[in-house]
Amino acid sequence: MWTKTGASASAHGGVWGARALAIAMFGGFCALAAEAGAASHASSAPSLEQSIQRTYASLGVQAPTAPAPPPEILAWRGVDIDGDGQDDFANPTGKDLRGCDDFGCGAFGSDRDAGGRRHEGVDFDASAGQPIDAPISGFVSKIGFAYPGDQRYHFVQITNPALHYQARVFYVDPSVREGQAVHIGQPIGRDHSLQPRYRGITNHVHLEIERIGGRKLDPTRFIAERMEPVQPPTTYAQGASPANG
Ligand SMILES: [Zn+2]
Repeated sequence: MWTKTGASASAHGGVWGARALAIAMFGGFCALAAEAGAASHASSAPSLEQSIQRTYASLGVQAPTAPAPPPEILAWRGVDIDGDGQDDFANPTGKDLRGCDDFGCGAFGSDRDAGGRRHEGVDFDASAGQPIDAPISGFVSKIGFAYPGDQRYHFVQITNPALHYQARVFYVDPSVREGQAVHIGQPIGRDHSLQPRYRGITNHVHLEIERIGGRKLDPTRFIAERMEPVQPPTTYAQGASPANG
């Protein structure tokens, strides 16, 4: 190594010139290392990204920019039971799941009546008066009262014999009638505020889903939120007709 350095240095002023150059380079390296060490210990140490940007700036070169990740949003989607590429279940309010408040929790299976029974659906936050959408396609098989003796609160039951599923949406002022065919996502009425009955409760819509003739299932198995590209898929709302829901 030294032999080679000496030999090549000979052509540029002899071995001492080469050593002086090496010492100067080493000294420069130490200075850089010390500076880097000081910088890394400073409280406002520049990030690697900042250092790279400065290096480009000092060279007068435009720094290459990393391609921006494709924009994504959180979107509620339902499972595709029949494999036709369309969601077969939908969030009736488009809002978040109800958490817990003084009256209970919104999750499936939560305690009700001080543990006397289980919550047989899931609650979605809702604004009083907002449009409520059909959670499945089918026909309106029943409109009933949510609470015996209280005619203010209705539920809308939608049955889909092709999928073998049935859904009930509670606390809706219905705009549909029994026997009417509805498409998933189509408004079936407006939210009826729970405040007059349970003052202070998180206003919500209660959704139940079951296999026809079966027990109640956790609706979050069928409807979930996930990150998606901003570009919307082709949906019923955009005019494509849902093939059998
Ligand atoms: Zn509920």
